[in-house]
Amino acid sequence: MKTMEYKESTITTSRFTQKYKEAIDQDYLVGTQCQDCGATFLPPRPICRDCKSPRTKLVEITAEKGSLLTYTIIHVAPPSLQHMAPYVVGIVELETGQRLTAIILGDPAELEIGKNVLLSFDLDTKGPGRLRFRLLPESN
Ligand SMILES: [Zn+2]
Repeated sequence: MKTMEYKESTITTSRFTQKYKEAIDQDYLVGTQCQDCGATFLPPRPICRDCKSPRTKLVEITAEKGSLLTYTIIHVAPPSLQHMAPYVVGIVELETGQRLTAIILGDPAELEIGKNVLLSFDLDTKGPGRLRFRLLPESN
């Protein structure tokens, strides 16, 4: 019985992951929303992180902007990203509340925690690696 539950969970995760990748390839974000407590998650997850409910459904996440929570500058890159090094990876809190980790485009000297960033998609990449955030000019 335990093995069966594990298999179902794996299938669900794979389906959510596939939808997430397909959405990103089409320039939008899909996450999950818990049907019991309403929490939303990105990337999608089959079990609610907050209340542990398995009743989650896919929803479009309509955020275009966010703010930079933290970042690091990558000097030693994996082979596929060596052409970009040094580059910045950051965690962004979207205007809709979810958090995403992605490459941050812009002058590293301009980076600051709390700065606003705009969601964008790299045209030459497929899947979640397409996610980018671009520093927005100062607005205040
Ligand atoms: Zn929940």
